[in-house]
Amino acid sequence: MIAAAVRLIQQSLTGEGFAPGAVDGQLGANTYGAVEKALPARQSELPSGWQQWPNSRKAVAYLQCLCKEHKIEVGDIDGYWGQQTDNAFDTLACLLKTGEMPRPWRDDEPGNANPNNWPGQSQASLNAFFGEVGQNQANLVLPYPHRLAWDLRQAVNSFSCNIKVRDSAQRVLTKVFDHYGIEKIRELHLDRWGGCLNVRKMRGGSNWSMHSWGIAIDYDPDRNQLKWGRDRAAFALPEYDAWWRFWEEEGWVSLGRSRNYDWMHVQAAKL
Ligand SMILES: [Zn+2]
Repeated sequence: MIAAAVRLIQQSLTGEGFAPGAVDGQLGANTYGAVEKALPARQSELPSGWQQWPNSRKAVAYLQCLCKEHKIEVGDIDGYWGQQTDNAFDTLACLLKTGEMPRPWRDDEPGNANPNNWPGQSQASLNAFFGEVGQNQANLVLPYPHRLAWDLRQAVNSFSCNIKVRDSAQRVLTKVFDHYGIEKIRELHLDRWGGCLNVRKMRGGSNWSMHSWGIAIDYDPDRNQLKWGRDRAAFALPEYDAWWRFWEEEGWVSLGRSRNYDWMHVQAAKL
């Protein structure tokens, strides 16, 4: 069990008066002894035979009970630390720390409009819709100035993209500009451009990247790194809800919002 979870258990046991010793994030005889005292009152939540469980399993069961008592979905009280317990622990930790449940990102389903009929992301349907990789490019003139993410002194006033996505991207960025204004755009790094057309294979894959057709755009790569999830990526924060809404209204897909990685990336192809 991670130290943060052990600390939470120890704090709770202390609060209940079961004296687990120091809140040090380490499981040991004192903590186990306190868990042993805390569980009988929760008998009705526990499956039969729990008394024979090893100490470490009892400690997880105690944590699961705490989640349940705070009305957090935790599944069966089985003493096993699986994905659901992991999520429930994160929620409980947030609740105890901030007094509020974490932002319910799962309710915030990405929009699935598709007014421009973007194709799916198989290579064949992309070629049929957009043409061969690197072809059919046009110049997208930006409604607000961008800067190269890797060299902020370099202004970008236009860039090359597939002709079929140009007007759509322009509409999105115009909405972004109208909604946020230039100051907020700078503050949120919505002007830090990480590239569009780039004929190359996918990172970690053998197919062409969506960038090969000029139908994907990256923003603020430094703060939205490829493997980062919503717990780290800047563009997962609520300030970016409108940003994503404007893209999704035009049928674009955020890998961050759909798959929880590559939050820098938005593409005109459906998953
Ligand atoms: Zn990308």
